[in-house]
Amino acid sequence: MEDQVEVIKSNKGGMKVIHKGYMYTVHKKRQCGGIRWRCAQRSLHCKGSISTGVDGPPKVNMPHNHLPDLHSVALARGRQSDDFGSLSHLLDVKFEEDPGIHLLIGKG
Ligand SMILES: [Zn+2]
Repeated sequence: MEDQVEVIKSNKGGMKVIHKGYMYTVHKKRQCGGIRWRCAQRSLHCKGSISTGVDGPPKVNMPHNHLPDLHSVALARGRQSDDFGSLSHLLDVKFEEDPGIHLLIGKG
């Protein structure tokens, strides 16, 4: 189950995901329902990015230039409320027609 994304809410109200110890912010939502995520460590000039879609595990687009930031991940997780944890919050109506997505994404 390691190849899953965990959705969290940032302290500013934005969305983030955690994947394999790296934290990402939304880069671009795509029409097909997928989302591109960019590494949250901008200060490192990291180009790390992943894509999540309607099926299958997240795709890694670009690798990171640093190690996973487990400390930040732990902090971000600690701020979460219990009722928030599914990527479906981010996605289009389209996903509501396909409940199977909940089995694939968002169950940390
Ligand atoms: Zn990175």
